[in-house]
Amino acid sequence: MAVFKPENVEDFYEIGDVLGSGHFGQVRQVREQTTGTCWAGKFLKIRKMAGSRLGVDRSSVEHEVEILQALHHPNIVILKDVFESRAEVVLILELVSGGELFDFIAEKENLLESEAIEFMKQILEGLGFMHSKKIAHFDLKPENIMLSNKVSPDPNIKLIDFGLAHRFQQSKEYRSTSGTPQYIAPEVINNEPLGMAADMWSIGVITYILLSGLSPFQSDTDEGTLKNIIAMKYEFFSQYFSTTSSIAKDFIQKLLIKNPNDRMTAEECLLHPWIKPITRKQVANRNRSSINMKNFKKFNAKRKWKMSYNIVLMCNRLIQLKLLCKGSSDPDPRQRQCESDTEDTESKPASLLRRRLSSSS
Ligand code: ATP
Repeated sequence: MAVFKPENVEDFYEIGDVLGSGHFGQVRQVREQTTGTCWAGKFLKIRKMAGSRLGVDRSSVEHEVEILQALHHPNIVILKDVFESRAEVVLILELVSGGELFDFIAEKENLLESEAIEFMKQILEGLGFMHSKKIAHFDLKPENIMLSNKVSPDPNIKLIDFGLAHRFQQSKEYRSTSGTPQYIAPEVINNEPLGMAADMWSIGVITYILLSGLSPFQSDTDEGTLKNIIAMKYEFFSQYFSTTSSIAKDFIQKLLIKNPNDRMTAEECLLHPWIKPITRKQVANRNRSSINMKNFKKFNAKRKWKMSYNIVLMCNRLIQLKLLCKGSSDPDPRQRQCESDTEDTESKPASLLRRRLSSSS
């Protein structure tokens, strides 16, 4: 069982700027008082009443902590410590200061496939390690693929956000319909038993986007996106894939397969000739091909715009709530707020939209 320290986190860490927000709280830079080292503090509001939609269940946080504790790999964020107070749990995580991989790439003028592959390799190594421990991530998407730092020319990939991750137990089925519409596998939508292969589907989607700047199943609505996934409706449009190697398309095709048993595993991906070329022709192919940077930049700008839009929506809801509760003063000016501070009264298919805040569909 994970140890949650009952001490006040602020007695050990100075709380700094917001690094990001999630569904159940904020992530802030924190500074360890004894060493001066900076970390990321993930502040999660704990659900106070059963049945309430405010906050996250303590058991879910325990689950995320146990998973993080089982994962020590250079491409997976490290968990250092956990603090617990009456209302929230704080995870002290390795500070990942390089931002999102997609933002790093979008700043470049051009990128060869061979350069993109170096990042893919690290994602697959981190994922392969998780899968070897029988842990699936179940929420792989650009927002959860970060870089260790901004200063090094070749920063390391760090996978983050294990809030939906699951550790499989022998002969125990697991089903879940949570995830982000653009990236989820057909078996998730169909509420079928899941396995590690659901992550491999997301890798196929991420690779498709990385190469073309196009999201393979995206429609104007989440419902439309889910329908396209179920129908396996995707193709390599020549105007977007004109600079893509055929071996890269083969890599994607071996992941975007409806039957999870037929998809490549992370280990098999690492041996695919796109990642590990064998012949000289394959090497040359990768070096000649590049990602569709013009369209990728467009995709990324739109994705960021949607994320900001969601944050503005969230703030507006909070302001409305505060106006409704006028008279009740803010108990703490540094109070950390999140979408979960407000009840979501709209009726939506609950779990598929659990990740709506960070959804980029
Ligand atoms: P979601 O609702 O998307 O699942 P969450 O509540 O589980 O979010 P995270 O995805 O873990 O929270 O974190 C939210 C954001 O905070 C991330 O998108 C990222 O920008 C930032 N972040 C998370 N962990 C770190 C870290 N270790 N170092 C730096 N920034 C981080």
